[in-house]
Amino acid sequence: MQCEIAPNFHNDEDMAEAEAILRSCVHCGFCTATCPTYQILGDELDGPRGRIYLIKEFLAGAPTSSESLTHLDRCLLCRACETTCPSGVRYARLVEIGRRNLEPHLGRPASERLQRALLRSIIPYPQRLRPLLQIAQCVKVVLREDWARQIPDCPAPTAASELEGSKQPRVLLLAGCVQSVSTPATNLALQKILDYLQIPWRVPATAGCCGALSLHLSAEEEALGFMRRNIDAWWPWIEQGAQAILVSASGCGAMVKEYGQALQHDPAYAEKARRIAELARDPGEWLLEEKFEFPSFAPSQRKVAFHSPCSLQHAQRLSGKIEILLQRVGYDLVPVADAHLCCGSAGSYSLLQPDLAKELRERKLSCLEAKAPDCIATANVGCQLHLQQEAGVPVRHWLELLADALPETLRAGERQSPTQA
Ligand code: SF4
Ligand code: SF4
Repeated sequence: MQCEIAPNFHNDEDMAEAEAILRSCVHCGFCTATCPTYQILGDELDGPRGRIYLIKEFLAGAPTSSESLTHLDRCLLCRACETTCPSGVRYARLVEIGRRNLEPHLGRPASERLQRALLRSIIPYPQRLRPLLQIAQCVKVVLREDWARQIPDCPAPTAASELEGSKQPRVLLLAGCVQSVSTPATNLALQKILDYLQIPWRVPATAGCCGALSLHLSAEEEALGFMRRNIDAWWPWIEQGAQAILVSASGCGAMVKEYGQALQHDPAYAEKARRIAELARDPGEWLLEEKFEFPSFAPSQRKVAFHSPCSLQHAQRLSGKIEILLQRVGYDLVPVADAHLCCGSAGSYSLLQPDLAKELRERKLSCLEAKAPDCIATANVGCQLHLQQEAGVPVRHWLELLADALPETLRAGERQSPTQA
């Protein structure tokens, strides 16, 4: 696709990258068929090719209306189009650069700005999110049933002793923000698995939100701040010999793997960010790389439908890995139709585009529940909470299922102390 960037964007240090991405698109339209929003809305401008065209027109200096922003807002950033594209177009990176420039140019209504500011000021901070969810849990009995279902669980906080770990860790874990509040069982399951394998781990206390929520809401500086804080939290342990950063929420894992790209223009952090991105692993990817063995067992909830999050299959390109691990320990994975399509969660998307998110969830659950599984497994806290609102069976993180396969003593909570290296 031909593109001449307008002179008023020449000062943006990412514009050469945007231009190269635009030129790599040959406008073939293969991506359109696998785009969930195009499938629902049927409008070319609600598919990847149309959105790329809108960004190209804007960056070339053509007049742009708020309609363009609406079409970009409806994009899930699921990256199914990247998996389909034969030309390797880096769509998500283009949208990130395009939206960052388009939003200030067009502006947003005050109600949208307030909604986005609230999300950014609450979700990345567990100390703010937890009390709000606790209050919501108390009042949910008087709410309409469909509203009450949307309030995520808020289990008791994880004990401080389970948050730190070894002083000489081989791997670092990220507790995350929403996951640490709503599904702490995920990281506890990962810790049990690492204890079983006698791998010393640590959750550096000052690491937190990965920055994805802010980045996807076009608050780039805020996102970079979260990334620098995490790098500062992890770096001393990496200098001391930590060999991997295991991120159990696949959405956060996809973000950490892009720290190098995000901080490439920051001379103080570029090299560290590149190294951090190299060390980031989804736990499933890492367990397979390290060739660990697990006992097989006979699970009581044997039939599992696995929902591979977009951040796992499209962003991290890790299709099929988790399925191998679950099958090895004894689960039967049922076939799932349209497994490449997003469930509608997509970070804050389910809150900002509730109608589309609901439609996508209904479609996804009809595929996941078609073979009557005992439970649904997934790899990202956002998908887990979103699907659980309407699912007829439990929705669990796959790490919990793997931890269930470990010897009874560990499952009963008699965890070993993290092994000292
Ligand atoms: S498939 Fe790739 S090259 Fe073809 S229109 Fe879509 S983004 Fe462009
Ligand atoms: S990221 Fe997903 S929703 Fe957005 S254009 Fe690509 S396929 Fe469609």
